[in-house]
Amino acid sequence: MVLARIEIDLSSDTSTRPSPAMRRAMGDAPVGDEQRGEDPTTAALERRVAALLGQAAAVLLPSGTMCNLIALLVHCRPGDEVICAANAHVYGSEAAGAAALAGAQFRVIDAATGIFGAADVEALIRSPRARSPRSRAVVVEQTTNRGGGQIWPEETLIALAEACRARGLALHMDGARLFNACVASGLAPARYAGPCDSVWIDLSKGLGCPVGAVLAGSAGFIEEAWVWKHRLGGAMRQSGILAAAGLYALDHNVDRLAEDHAKARRLAAMLAEAGVAVTPEDDFTNILILDLPAEGPSAATVAEELRRDGIRVGVEGPFRMRAVTHLDVTAEAVERAGRALIAVLQRGAG
Ligand SMILES: *Cc1c(COP(=O)(O)O)cnc(C)c1O
Repeated sequence: MVLARIEIDLSSDTSTRPSPAMRRAMGDAPVGDEQRGEDPTTAALERRVAALLGQAAAVLLPSGTMCNLIALLVHCRPGDEVICAANAHVYGSEAAGAAALAGAQFRVIDAATGIFGAADVEALIRSPRARSPRSRAVVVEQTTNRGGGQIWPEETLIALAEACRARGLALHMDGARLFNACVASGLAPARYAGPCDSVWIDLSKGLGCPVGAVLAGSAGFIEEAWVWKHRLGGAMRQSGILAAAGLYALDHNVDRLAEDHAKARRLAAMLAEAGVAVTPEDDFTNILILDLPAEGPSAATVAEELRRDGIRVGVEGPFRMRAVTHLDVTAEAVERAGRALIAVLQRGAG
């Protein structure tokens, strides 16, 4: 079967492509050798992100996955335990890097929204004993990817940070979509990121850059992160080309995330009316988890039918789909996708 070209891609905000203006900024970037600390554009991006996140220093890395991995490599020693949500990206979608390379194991909290409280963590912290793993770090996702783009409330993070500090655990924020949380809530990034020991933002998701993520923390943390960046082959040369895209995105692509949230809200309203259970019910950012009616066609069938129309939506389970709005899908395209999805459900039910 020859598949139609994908015209509307709601499977992920990673499908965003660098705009002509972003490409121009990349082309014009002053560059140098990053490994020698001589790339001025990379240095500018790192300074800017550190300040935005309320942290002392930052480092540009090729991906968010490497940010999570390096953070756990710095925080943990082999045999240590990391606490996170059962549906966290770091736990299920990063090829078990923490286990394979940091020697850390996870202890997970079953939280459908991806959000948990200090008490949930307290209950899992192990007492120091020769035979027990050492509880060492907690990972939170802002916003929660598989939880439906939900926002960790500031007070929950502050309480968690206090609990972690009291018990000697590091608090790490996977901020792949931190700016979505900030735009939706109106809070500055440092309000969420400041209480954390380490935190990163992804440039290649809703911000629309082709490559990159920036990891931030204390000066000592970033110094150790640099050792791992070298070891893992993540140290670059003229990375200013990539950093320039990041600087461009911080100038032009942050406030506009509100448009993506409005598109998600509109799609949620359409689909809820057609009998799809949508998560979240309110406080939309750019991710919707869609639970299809069990008496209708499966998620795989719906995805295949939509694909014939040039529309791509993610499949998360037998009757579960994920739709992600972003800068490369217009409000009209999202409406069209919503109508198409409803039509498939109605055909299947009829
Ligand atoms: C995408 C994502 C990552 C990994 O980022 P990459 O840049 O794709 O490596 C980590 N955590 C969350 C929550 C994500 O959505």
